[in-house]
Amino acid sequence: MSERDFYEVLGVSRSASDDEIKKAYRKLAMKYHPDRNPDNPEAEAKFKEVQKAYDILSDAQKKAAYDQYGHAGVDPNMGGGAGGFGGFGGGAFDFGDIFSQMFGAGAGGRQPNFQGADLQYSMEISLEEAARGVKKTITIPAHEECDICHGSGAKPGTSASVCGTCGGSGTVHVRQAIFHMQQTCPTCHGSGKQIKDPCVKCHGAGQVKTRKTVDVSIPAGIDDGQRIRLSGEGEPGSNGAPAGDLYVLVRVRPHGVFERDGMDLHCELPISFTVAALGGEVEVPTLEGRVKLNIPKETQTGRRMRVRGKGVKSVRSAAVGDLYCHVVVETPVNLTERQKELLEEFEKISTGLDRAQTPRQKSFMDKLRDLFE
Ligand SMILES: [Zn+2]
Ligand SMILES: [Zn+2]
Repeated sequence: MSERDFYEVLGVSRSASDDEIKKAYRKLAMKYHPDRNPDNPEAEAKFKEVQKAYDILSDAQKKAAYDQYGHAGVDPNMGGGAGGFGGFGGGAFDFGDIFSQMFGAGAGGRQPNFQGADLQYSMEISLEEAARGVKKTITIPAHEECDICHGSGAKPGTSASVCGTCGGSGTVHVRQAIFHMQQTCPTCHGSGKQIKDPCVKCHGAGQVKTRKTVDVSIPAGIDDGQRIRLSGEGEPGSNGAPAGDLYVLVRVRPHGVFERDGMDLHCELPISFTVAALGGEVEVPTLEGRVKLNIPKETQTGRRMRVRGKGVKSVRSAAVGDLYCHVVVETPVNLTERQKELLEEFEKISTGLDRAQTPRQKSFMDKLRDLFE
């Protein structure tokens, strides 16, 4: 039986470090893994070869024997010196062992330190607040150290013991597809400890729920759906790991007058038909109070009047959007007798006059004529 050189199998040099060997092995093991290569005897053979090479080269004693005597030094069939190598003949690999070695489990009593979770808080503000910017104080759920047990979770006078499931590491290994993942220990939830007499106040958690207030500064120009990140204001991490972040999701309430489109605002501007015909000055609303706007004579419904600089400031720069007023010519209602009289008179002197006074009607009549004649 002619076996390939183990270093060659892993594609590393004879002077490769343990780390380089491990990396090379991991890459090849994943490449040739049976789960990724179903019904592929060639890949399976490669996989076994890679496993065997790694088994030798990752063990200092076997590696030394191999370096000195070659295959004879580690193959039990050859009666070599190192011995103890069982081979992989049956195909019954324990990937768990291999992968847990790779990921460095069993570091013995080392506590896991998980970064705290990110939190999201949804906040509703008005359009005015969004345009100008606003400072808000919010109250969010938080945890603080239990003042009875001072964080140990054990009843005063007792102490916690090492978790029997994870041996104190706080994590267990679970197989998922071809990967072995470290997961938080289901028994101790990552603490690595087991508490026989839990503290009566926190029931062993070592922490109690509380609330904390956080000041949030909303920048001028923020838009609906944007988020503000408050770094480190999320849930605290365990064992000194950094806390998560707090995200404040900003929702802007719909406004009674304005609709926002990016930096611009839009509103409807109803004007009387007299102002529409003769022109005149009207007041229009803005986020900072009313401004005067000149309506030119002969203004029609649908005309868009721009009021520069009365939109919303950009959240990123000093740029400011515009306000667009969409003119609607309003038909008067509840007319008095006198108004009716005047309008009837107006109609009388308008009838039969040049259609140039009513360009829309003229164009409409022209179209009808084209259709029916
Ligand atoms: Zn407690
Ligand atoms: Zn545990």
